[in-house]
Amino acid sequence: MFNFDYYNPTRVLFGTQRIADIGQYIPANARVLITYGGGSAKKFGTIDEARKALGDREIFEFGGIEVNPHFETLMFAVELVKEKKIDFLLAVGGGSVVDATKFIAAAVLYEGDVWNMWSKRLPLEKAMPLGCIMTLPATGSEMNPTAVVTNVALGAKMGFSDAHLYPQFAVLDPRKTYTLPVKQVSNGVVDAFVHVIEQYLTYPVYGKVQDRFAEGLLLTLIEEGPKALTDPENYDVRSTVTWSATLALNGLIGVGVPQDWATHRIGHQLTALYHLDHAETLAVLLPSLLQVQRETKRLKLLQYAERVWGLTGGDEETRITAAIDKTRDFFDDMGVKTRISAYGVPEKVIEEVLENLTRFNLLPMGEHKDIDLVAARRILSLSY
Ligand code: NAP
Ligand code: FE
Repeated sequence: MFNFDYYNPTRVLFGTQRIADIGQYIPANARVLITYGGGSAKKFGTIDEARKALGDREIFEFGGIEVNPHFETLMFAVELVKEKKIDFLLAVGGGSVVDATKFIAAAVLYEGDVWNMWSKRLPLEKAMPLGCIMTLPATGSEMNPTAVVTNVALGAKMGFSDAHLYPQFAVLDPRKTYTLPVKQVSNGVVDAFVHVIEQYLTYPVYGKVQDRFAEGLLLTLIEEGPKALTDPENYDVRSTVTWSATLALNGLIGVGVPQDWATHRIGHQLTALYHLDHAETLAVLLPSLLQVQRETKRLKLLQYAERVWGLTGGDEETRITAAIDKTRDFFDDMGVKTRISAYGVPEKVIEEVLENLTRFNLLPMGEHKDIDLVAARRILSLSY
């Protein structure tokens, strides 16, 4: 196992009626900015519940945060925070809103060129405090220090991580997910699944605890994901999917082991250029990445085949191929299409994504830093 620091200061308020408790974790005299997206948080009453819990505090709102939030939009929120002298940010929504709010928290107190800081992943000296009410189980953003923001002018989608950006608290009320469109539930399960894979399906080191946590999460998502689609108001299923998504990316399973993240980083460019949903990019890329990397990931692929998919028959090559096929089938069964061409995107996307990867210095990637331009082209071609 590699050396590691493990630090996670986010308080999780899990279960029903937990929005009512947030007041305890926000200073009594705070001026609070509630951030939200396209309107679901208003429509389904979540912002009203938050306002009630905030009591007498002065409250401001910033709505209209896009899916895959835009740098350009968020800079308006940064101005509002300064103008209204806000001192606490409360995100209400899915990963896009929580990520956006982390960006705002970082940008408000950053002196200098904000996009330069973000794209070069410069360390922060400070950030504003934030909390969140997460309405979509998927990203793990509620309990991690990471955020992904799109710069529309540059056509770039970039992730950023800094320990100052952990939410102070995260409300996870599984009932809040009942209003999700089926497509977002599918996306969420696929995103959480791939988060686990990015930290698990790497070349093996002795990380038995991490492996078994990861396998437990994968098995759970495979079992519960389809039920979350067919039985949308099953509280046990929704709470299991919600907690799985959080644990998939709150740092726990990734400590001390190699991490890949190439599927995510290539996927971000597909979203930036052709607006595929985040999970759609993962569903098309991951099976191809496993295929291209099958030699370097060989031992772990065999473990994955046996422990996650129960594949024990046939020779090693057969088992690896079957595990990759099962992964693709799972995404298809969850209703997320697994070929780029199925989204009506032209084939020139391959060269366009490669150009972004070069332009934004994202190569080489993967746990061995062995995914170069040639390997990335193979992954994209196979995915197409
Ligand atoms: P999202 O983009 O936050 O939301 C997707 C859609 O779901 C929106 O239209 C939203 O509507 C709607 N929605 C959310 N909650 C709802 C509810 N309870 N009922 C009905 N509709 C609801 O989706 P996401 O998958 O959570 O986030 C994706 C973003 O997170 C991407 O930018 C991705 O790159 C990023 N990401 C971040 C991390 C991380 O570690 N930080 C990890 C993976 C991915 P409204 O806009 O109207 O609210
Ligand atoms: Fe993701």
